Amino acid sequence: MRLAVVGSGYVGLVASACFAETGNDVICVERDAERVARLRANDLPLFEPGLEPLVSLNQAAGRLHFATELSEAVAHADVIFIAVGTPTASDGSADISQVVEVAEAVGRLARKPAVLVLKSTSPVGTTARVAAAVRAVASVPVEVAANPEFLKEGAAVDDFMHPDRVVIGTESAAVRGIMTDLYAPYTLRGGERILFMDPASAEVTKYAANAMLATRVSFMNQIAALCEAVGADVSMVRTGIGSDRRIGRAFLYPGPGYGGSCFPKDLRALLRTGADLGVDMDLIQAVEQVNLRQRDLVFGKVLESAGRLEGSTIAVWGLAFKAETDDVRDSPAIALIRKLLDAGARVQAHDPKAMPAARQLFGDHVCLAQDPYAAAEGADALAVMTEWLVYRTPDFDRIAAAMRRAAIVDGRNLYDPHRVTQAGIRYCGIGRRPREGTPPGGRERHATQH
Ligand code: NAD
Repeated sequence: MRLAVVGSGYVGLVASACFAETGNDVICVERDAERVARLRANDLPLFEPGLEPLVSLNQAAGRLHFATELSEAVAHADVIFIAVGTPTASDGSADISQVVEVAEAVGRLARKPAVLVLKSTSPVGTTARVAAAVRAVASVPVEVAANPEFLKEGAAVDDFMHPDRVVIGTESAAVRGIMTDLYAPYTLRGGERILFMDPASAEVTKYAANAMLATRVSFMNQIAALCEAVGADVSMVRTGIGSDRRIGRAFLYPGPGYGGSCFPKDLRALLRTGADLGVDMDLIQAVEQVNLRQRDLVFGKVLESAGRLEGSTIAVWGLAFKAETDDVRDSPAIALIRKLLDAGARVQAHDPKAMPAARQLFGDHVCLAQDPYAAAEGADALAVMTEWLVYRTPDFDRIAAAMRRAAIVDGRNLYDPHRVTQAGIRYCGIGRRPREGTPPGGRERHATQH
């Protein structure tokens, strides 16, 4: 099929490469000319496992092209996907202006019938609104459909190639046929995995999915707080409830709170939609509040571990909002660092992939270390904020020797508290029994280690 994808971010670039990989002829349109030049040279502007080979192989095979001009892509394509940003507007709603702008431009440029598919996460009613806007300017029929994207950053290529489901919001039988053909290669493995529904239901499905996942995270963070108060271990509780098939194991990990470019933004937009329509969204509101509180809680743990922040040095392992991505948008680690800097601490951070993005945010206000141990050097506390594999089994003796005051705040519960304290490091996790966090000889030993 001849396709165009507008936007070369995490969604647009992955969709372009994966559509090309199954034999489609794809033009990916990006307004940022510098980004296009880099992409043409297979120099990816973002990190996503497995993406770089797909981009270079499909460019070499002539199935994937990058362009700055929408007109070229509209002339080429039978199906045009919109994958531009829908950031938070000042009132909390999703700002769909980029989506509408692209859709109207497609409508004006179209010279043959086309299907316009909204992949950007857009609030309920957007597909209908965009369809009306396109109808008003187009001289040929342009069908507009919703196709929200459910990929996870860090596993985006795999999610796109093997989706749990593909949701298409359309009332058109013709669009249904085209989408069935297009997605067939990705939905071969078992079951009826292309779900057709009306556009409004497809739009709500995307927000409801993210709200559900965020709810599980906040739920576990609240249970973790209770575990700390009563002396229980949230890891045990998580296993205990996750083995119930009605509950399942996914998304039950307590931590520094959810972040990234989707959950916080999409929950805010959902709250706004509810408020606009007079629907009480108090559960979603609570999920958001718990999440914000969790960030304060992790900050409090770092303060307690370091003793004081003014004039102290804090090491931070992990800057990305989750492992296997370089995305720092709304990352809990970034929020923590801002608070630490405000409190007068010096921050030494490390991340395997996200340091260039962090450098853009902090300049030289944060010292970015080339390896994790260098970040820990002379620190008064180490906060582990992202669950990168490289942080999973560190040399605790080396950490203890490097730090001025050996204390770890394990924001992802990666470590065995006993193992950490054995190395003479004070341990503080999320929702874990405090007695497991006290090293032999007590806390004072660490303060005077060097
Ligand atoms: P992004 O910010 O990484 O990328 C958007 C890209 O679109 C940018 O490169 C921007 O320059 C480009 N763009 C904007 N206007 C353009 C125009 N008129 N013409 C050409 N290019 C234009 O965004 P993203 O993370 O890929 O997300 C895109 C959408 O998908 C959002 O609505 C988001 O909520 C949704 N989504 C994101 C994810 C995710 O994990 N990132 C997952 C599912 C859904």
